[in-house]
Formats: sequence, structure tokens, C-alpha cells
Amino acid sequence: VTGSFDLIVVGSGIVGLSHAAAANRIGLRVCVVDRDRRPTGASVRNFGMIWPIGTPAGELRRLSLRSVQLWLKHARECGLHADACGSLHLAYRDDELRVLREFLAGGSAPEGCELWAADEILARVPGVRAAGLLGGLRSVSELAVDPRAACDRLGAWLESRGVVFARPAAAVEADSGMVRLASGDVVRGGCVIVCTGADFETLLPQVYRDAPVTKCKLMMLRLCAPSWRTGMHIAGGLTLRHYRAFDACPSIADLRARIAREHPFLDGAGIHVMASQQPDGTLIVGDSHEYGRSLSPFDNAAIETTILGCLSGMLDITDLSVIERWHGVYSRRTDGQPLFRAEPIPGVHVVTCLSGAGMTLGPAVGEWVVAELFQTSDVSNGARGDALGAIR
Ligand SMILES: Cc1cc2nc3c(=O)[nH]c(=O)nc-3n(C[C@H](O)[C@H](O)[C@H](O)COP(=O)(O)OP(=O)(O)OC[C@H]3O[C@@H](n4cnc5c(N)ncnc54)[C@H](O)[C@@H]3O)c2cc1C
Repeated sequence: VTGSFDLIVVGSGIVGLSHAAAANRIGLRVCVVDRDRRPTGASVRNFGMIWPIGTPAGELRRLSLRSVQLWLKHARECGLHADACGSLHLAYRDDELRVLREFLAGGSAPEGCELWAADEILARVPGVRAAGLLGGLRSVSELAVDPRAACDRLGAWLESRGVVFARPAAAVEADSGMVRLASGDVVRGGCVIVCTGADFETLLPQVYRDAPVTKCKLMMLRLCAPSWRTGMHIAGGLTLRHYRAFDACPSIADLRARIAREHPFLDGAGIHVMASQQPDGTLIVGDSHEYGRSLSPFDNAAIETTILGCLSGMLDITDLSVIERWHGVYSRRTDGQPLFRAEPIPGVHVVTCLSGAGMTLGPAVGEWVVAELFQTSDVSNGARGDALGAIR
């Protein structure tokens, strides 16, 4: 790579590309470095759910809604798929319905949320299992993007706008104004932003050594297309205990306790079940959560069986054939904060640990970090990331 850049971004997952896109929009010369020819990390292994309903009301919710706008903008400009399908949380137990009611009544639900009765759901949403259905929470804020194509599309569009991609090229050293590649070549630029996801070992390992960060492995499945289309993302009672947005609901503790009592394996494996129907009708289904700096390379078959069992309780699927299985790993903080930022060397910034919300928060976080570093005011809708700015 020749020339000098205003910004070098290491990592072409959604977090890296979001920084590159924001910098490109304000006219900066940008180089993106990735060790892989195409993104193969967490950003292509997820559900493609842009999920404001899971983010706590306040700063994070605002950032997630800003990301929704940015995804829709990317969709218009890069031709990537983004469907404003919204979501539906289904309740099959009284405590699940209670949490959904509290969520709505507490004023922390995204705009446009409403409770649907069981018969309304069954009339409007094909594929939902009728037996035992009590109701559900409909939200219109969520988007579906195709996780396998989104980064490729965004990357190709950025390239067409002059962003230089150095791939495959592993970065082995980052210092003020430079990134050294494994080949020995050096890329020079004014500012370096390292967005290398869950790789704590290769670049700047000293940053992560004692930091409150870890990794999380999730098991995922793709099922063959059923005869129906739900038209929206589907989640259930298990998911309510997973996202912090529901923590303020008074009944969440009882719901958690009941699930832990009835199904200890679900808690042990961190299982909650969601389904995202793809444009070809296939269902991306997950997931489980295993935490640690060093994760098992082996996928426990009991987790898959359990996920499929829980899914069958929510959706009428006659053919549970798994057409693909994989696991993904994301980085996360151990102290509950929503991201990790550091500037270990002047002009070298690390941005990672967006946890299970990188697709939901990444575009807005990239916009905010670039605006902050380059002193621009190109951040709208109040998504200023002020609270996050304090996080290091
Ligand atoms: C199974 C699963 C499901 C998920 N579902 C959702 C969802 O539906 N919605 C949501 O909002 N979030 C979801 N997430 C979270 C989201 O996918 C992640 O937060 C996000 O993708 C992280 O993006 P990233 O760019 O930080 O990391 P990655 O996508 O992992 O990208 C890191 C990049 O850095 C590159 N890299 C690493 N080290 C080097 C180096 N030394 N030199 C050069 N390149 C390097 C890698 O090759 C990689 O391309 C999910 C995550 C998983 C794993």
C-alpha cells in the first residue's frame, strides 16, 4: 500500500467498516487493513438483527436508533439488504407476558411498541405456534440485514469511493502514524483505529492483558425454509433475560428464577432462542453463550438439540433440518460496559467489545468515534455517545 492516509483502520468487520465509512463521508483518506481477504469474523456470523429493543433506554438506545438510520442509508447507497421488519417477542408463560407488559408500561420500550393478543398474532404472523400462546410484544424499530453480504457490500462501496483496502494483510504492529504488516510493509497514516474484534493476541496484546475484557462463543444454525414467512424477527421469553433493556422490569427476577429452576441447562449454556428469516426463507437460529479468554473449539450437540426444542415451542416448523451450523466469537467487557476504548499509544485507538450488539451499535459508534477524533460535528439525532466517551 503506497501513499499516506488520514486514517488507518485495522479490521474490516462491521466496527472497522463503520469507522471507515464515517471517515470517508467527511472526506478523509482511509486505508482498511484486514488479515482476511473477506470478513469472516463475528460480523458475518450473526443473525443480522439490528435490535434497538434490546438496548437499554437512554444513550445506547439513541445510538442503536442512529445505527438503524445509517443501515438504511447504507442500503440505499450500497444496495445491501435492510428490511424494516421489526420484531415480535412471544409469551407462552404468565411471567413472560408480565415482563412484556411492564416493559411497555415502564416507558422504556422503543417508540411504536404494542402488545398483541394471541389471536391477533395468529392472524397476522404466519408460522407462530398457537398452543399455549398468551400474547406478544410487537416492535417496529428492528431491521434485518443479510450478515453474510452486508460487510462485502459496504466494503465494495467504500472501495468505489476511494477507500484503499489492504487484504489479506495481518497487522503485527501499530504505532503513532503507522501500521506494520506481517509482510514487513508499513502503512502510514495520521491516526490508527484498531477494530480487531475478539483477537486480543496479535496486535497490541498488552492493551488487553489486564483489561476487563473476555470473549464469548455462540452456536448458530440455519434451518431450511418453512412454507411460511413470519415477516419479522421472532424472540421469546428466554430472550427477555438476555438483553439489558428488560432489566428494569420488576418481574424479570422471577422469570429468571423460574427458568433457572425449570431448565438449569439453559442457564448453564447461556441459551436463548431467536429466529431471523432470510430473504430466501431460511431461518437463522441461535444461540448459546460460552465465556472465556480461551474457548472450546468443540460444539456441544446438546446445545443444538435444546435450541431446536425451544424453537419448536414458538414456531410451527415441520422440517427441522439443519442446513448449516457454525459458531461465532465476539469480544465483550466483563464489567457490563457496552464497549472498550483505549489509546495505548498517542494516535492509536482501540475500539472493540460491542458484545452481542455490534451490528446494532457499530455504525453509530463508528460515526461518533470519528467525529470525536477528527473534531467534526457530523453526528445527528442526539447520538453523541457522551456517556460512552467516558468509558475507557
Ligand atoms: C453468533 C453471533 C450472533 C450475533 N448476532 C448479532 C445480531 O444479530 N445483532 C447484533 O447487533 N450483533 C450481533 N452479534 C454481535 C456482532 O456480530 C459483533 O459485535 C460484531 O460483529 C463485532 O464486529 P467487529 O468488527 O468488532 O469484529 P469482527 O467482525 O470479528 O471483525 C474483526 C476483524 O478484524 C480482523 N483482524 C483481527 N486481527 C487482525 C490483525 N492483527 N490484522 C488485520 N486484521 C485483523 C479480522 O480478520 C476481522 O475481519 C452477534 C455475534 C455473534 C458471534
